[in-house]
Amino acid sequence: MGEMMIRDLINSIEKIEIPSADRRFGITRVLKRYDGTPVYIKDVDGYQVIGNLCNRDIIAKSLGVPVKDLMKHILRSMEREKEGELIINNTLKREYIEDPPSEINNYPIPIYYPRDGGPYITSGVVIVKDRDYGVNASIHRILVKGDRLVIRMVEQRHLHYIYSKNIEEDGEIDVAIVIGVHPAILLAASTSGDITFNELKYASVLMGKPLELIKCDTVDLEVPPGEFIIEGKITREMEDEGPFVDITGTYDKVRKQPVIRITSLKRRKDPIFHALLPGGVEHKVLMGLPQEPRIYRGVRNVVPSVKDVVLTEGGCCWLHAVISIEKRTEGDGKNAILAALASHPSLKHVVVVDQDINIGDPKDVEYAIATRVQADRDVVIIKGAKGSSLDPSINEDKTTAKMGIDATISLKKNREDFIRAELPEDK
Ligand code: MN
Repeated sequence: MGEMMIRDLINSIEKIEIPSADRRFGITRVLKRYDGTPVYIKDVDGYQVIGNLCNRDIIAKSLGVPVKDLMKHILRSMEREKEGELIINNTLKREYIEDPPSEINNYPIPIYYPRDGGPYITSGVVIVKDRDYGVNASIHRILVKGDRLVIRMVEQRHLHYIYSKNIEEDGEIDVAIVIGVHPAILLAASTSGDITFNELKYASVLMGKPLELIKCDTVDLEVPPGEFIIEGKITREMEDEGPFVDITGTYDKVRKQPVIRITSLKRRKDPIFHALLPGGVEHKVLMGLPQEPRIYRGVRNVVPSVKDVVLTEGGCCWLHAVISIEKRTEGDGKNAILAALASHPSLKHVVVVDQDINIGDPKDVEYAIATRVQADRDVVIIKGAKGSSLDPSINEDKTTAKMGIDATISLKKNREDFIRAELPEDK
């Protein structure tokens, strides 16, 4: 047991160790300095804090797959989500102690940036149940206001849908927020499949083992044994939420959002708080990784020889994709562009390359653009498509221009002229 605990993973990875940091901007400072590398802070007001936990390498390691196979492992696991196994193990509850709801103000919840609306929980897996569609797990930013919480629910996402569908009839909705969970659970909760998609079962498939859950005390929910467990009720009441920094590193505005009343606060005896830096690599990777298989599947429909897909960090793991294909027919590059733009509606720019280009290396991708592209022939621009709300440059009517660059070698050219010299294997 315990293989799906964040604490075991933290012990097994290389990380930067910092003796202490201030909740107000201090955590942000160290997480920004080492963005992309795990940082363990021993003492934030008496609590341990981990940040920058998830990058591609650590997610792959934590799932037991090589990083080059990560996208395909995610793709296969998503298709087998129903096979996931959930086991209730209430003996795990012995590890927890109960705090009064007001104690949340003593937890090491960061104020990340000066204009933030207050301290924010950014790594909380929010679990609710719908009577028709079952359990839903998703990650939302949550503002702490006294002993109440205000949760940002993006319209059309599952939590918002379930809230809107049930709040009138039920008056309040049971919720649990788990902070400090294994990357498999974070990745699963960042995935939006069909409304019936069970993210917790999917986490079990990602790990290749059953996921243990414990029963909550004050709400009718079962949750993974994270470091902190907040139980509560999502109410009809609305309060100001924001401003807060989004994936692009820019500020999102203030909106009226639902209030959560805390009914129980539990933590491990020596809990590790997970601070997820807004706009950092961890945020981007968790947003982007679940989208890559969607793009891959969409492209595979029209270009079956597609090899790999990455949403790049420079493009916030959201707005820019690079796709490698084994080009078989003239036009494959353009078809891959169209399919990619259709599969991930927030995608803005996409580059298609041959399989000799390392799509994980921005310099190699630029090399392909530099040596294989003629702009008048290889660039596709689509005007007036629906844009991503995360892109501050979108038009007033929320539309955007989309661009695809076909950086594959033309089949009409002599391929030899494009392939880089290589040395024979060293003996
Ligand atoms: Mn869902």
